[in-house]
Amino acid sequence: MSEPSGLAVLGATGSIGGSTLSVVARHPDRFEIVSLAAARRAKELDRLALRWRPEYVVLAELPEPPAGLEWSGEWRCGREAMKAAAADPAASIVVNALVGFAGLESTLAALGAGKRLALANKESLVVGGELVLRAAEDGQGQLLPVDSEHSAIMQCLDGRPRAEVHRVVLTASGGPFREWPASRFGSIRPEDALAHPTWSMGDKITIDSATLANKALEVIEAHLLFGLEFDQIDVVVHPASIVHSMVEFRDGSTISQLGHPTMEVPILYALSAPERLENDFRSFDPVQASPLEFERLRHEDFPMFDLGVEAGRAGGTAPAVYNAANEVAVRSFLEGRLSFLGISRAVERVLSSMAPEPVENVEHLTAVDREARSRAREAVGTPSPTGGETVP
Ligand code: NAD
Ligand code: MG
Repeated sequence: MSEPSGLAVLGATGSIGGSTLSVVARHPDRFEIVSLAAARRAKELDRLALRWRPEYVVLAELPEPPAGLEWSGEWRCGREAMKAAAADPAASIVVNALVGFAGLESTLAALGAGKRLALANKESLVVGGELVLRAAEDGQGQLLPVDSEHSAIMQCLDGRPRAEVHRVVLTASGGPFREWPASRFGSIRPEDALAHPTWSMGDKITIDSATLANKALEVIEAHLLFGLEFDQIDVVVHPASIVHSMVEFRDGSTISQLGHPTMEVPILYALSAPERLENDFRSFDPVQASPLEFERLRHEDFPMFDLGVEAGRAGGTAPAVYNAANEVAVRSFLEGRLSFLGISRAVERVLSSMAPEPVENVEHLTAVDREARSRAREAVGTPSPTGGETVP
């Protein structure tokens, strides 16, 4: 039997990181952990290191490991160490489960070093766009989506040529406010937005799911991953999150991928594709899952969706501006400094103040990201243009 594949798990202490380790635990003959990286949760990383015995661990956002850790192996610190873990020859697979723009350099490093990149950190693909695709091409890296919708599309496409695809339909749970009248949106608190009906995830993506910014990021992700025009990507609300997405082919046949909402299935497939490994899944019961319901997305009440898709269509630096402003707005909302409605107002204001430019390189993108964050911080907390009301 062949050697197990070495894995670098970036974002190991998070929701996707944890699910990845559960998947790996069931396939010790196929995968082994080379490195585990996190931002700053040293205690949790310590516990994981004791369990997984990696070659080393990385704390990307700390200058040195804090005192009192039990694991006696190698602790590395800083962003450069994380980037190096993404390109380490000992790991043939990199799982990028970081959050936000901070994941971009690891995505580029992994693809540039020819890795199989299991990508959960959609923000890095959305902001990096062509740069990320070029890094994959130049470095012979392989980009596999972990996002359940994109995993579904990849499985439905099954390598068929783009010319045979009429369109794809991404499903969206609709988030916790699917049935709320817009008149109540002014009263939304962070704890309301954090109560996702079908998925248990990190804070940032949970808020993105509540505003539907997540679905806009996913439309851009689908455009880049599968080379589809924006007009070929539709979104439908499907509250149960059973149908993970569908592909309509030009002959009128629509193929979809179904299953209970668990990230372990798309994670496993990103690690093993095109092979399908044994998995102790809960069998799918169509009767129990009935009826499968679909409804239209309320564009008028969730402006973050259209703002994001428009940024995707505009291209260049626009998705990076959208993403940066959203990251700042979401953080402010979670910290109680911005209202739910203030998120889209702040993002819209930043987008309209920064015209899209063609992306030159990663330094250019980093500068745009920084500028958009600074404008977003300004927008959060300054009076809105529509009268005396304030954004927060
Ligand atoms: P999370 O907040 O639970 O975990 C994030 C992990 O990344 C943690 O280990 C944290 O330490 C690390 N991290 C965060 N910021 C960092 C930084 N600046 N530098 C270094 N490390 C950093 O997040 P999550 O829910 O696991 O989501 C991870 C990514 O996967 C996001 O891009 C999200 O959109 C995507 N995703 C998540 C789910 C899900 O079910 N959770 C589904 C689809 C896609
Ligand atoms: Mg998704």
